[in-house]
Amino acid sequence: MLKIGCHLSSSAGYLAMGKDAEKINANTFAFFTRNPRGGSAKPINEADVAHFLEFAKERGISHLVAHSPYTLNPCSAKPELRDFAKRTMADDLHRLEYTPGNFYNFHPGSHTGQGEDIGLLQCAQMLNDILPLSQTTTVLIETMAGKGSEIGKTFEQIAKIISMVEDKSKLGVCLDTCHIWDGGYDIVNDLDGVLTQFDKTIGLHNLRAIHLNDSLNPCGAHKDRHAKIGEGQIGQEALCRVINHKALHSLPFILETPNDEAGYAREIAMLREAYKY
Ligand code: FE
Ligand code: FE
Ligand code: ZN
Repeated sequence: MLKIGCHLSSSAGYLAMGKDAEKINANTFAFFTRNPRGGSAKPINEADVAHFLEFAKERGISHLVAHSPYTLNPCSAKPELRDFAKRTMADDLHRLEYTPGNFYNFHPGSHTGQGEDIGLLQCAQMLNDILPLSQTTTVLIETMAGKGSEIGKTFEQIAKIISMVEDKSKLGVCLDTCHIWDGGYDIVNDLDGVLTQFDKTIGLHNLRAIHLNDSLNPCGAHKDRHAKIGEGQIGQEALCRVINHKALHSLPFILETPNDEAGYAREIAMLREAYKY
């Protein structure tokens, strides 16, 4: 069965997210571990988590992809911002042990003028500091569109980060279709070629989740503006080929398209209909 869901609001707790997922026929979901702009996280409500875990098990909801606040910058030129990113992600990893065995994805950051090599190194250093804190959560580096001084915009850069991480047992990659398209990878005309390239540089065994988004902009635009499935320049057909690709079809797919609940329900229904497995 297709593993698909979308970003859900975590403000009402875990069980509420589980019920929201069920309403739109999702069997996975993503959520921000705290306000996406950073700040402190709400304390974990253990009774809520226990109810959620039971609910999720009954309903086949799994492979959650928690998202770190997108304002964190592990490779800022400012040491206090790098430190803040590390402390926040370390705290998230502790909290995520309440819902064990899932994923936690993050943006590798923007080097803010330090140069790509320093950025990649600082990102890897942070991972070396925080990964030992994870018991069961797999941390996923997200592929980025390359706007501004963002790192992680090429498969080579992601591979370089991974190569500098000592313990890779809890490390993986989350591929965002809008981001790689904006980064110059033509998944419309050459999905096989792009995935072959991914395999040769990063290794497909490291690919653990997909952010399934259309893009408002053309391939290589480095813009990062998401569109609804079929309303962007990637298009519905190409995104249906993504969910059905033999190397990808069993991964969890997370929609980050600009939708309300009804819109997500429609996209999920359409993609389930298009799924061939
Ligand atoms: Fe993201
Ligand atoms: Fe994404
Ligand atoms: Zn994006």
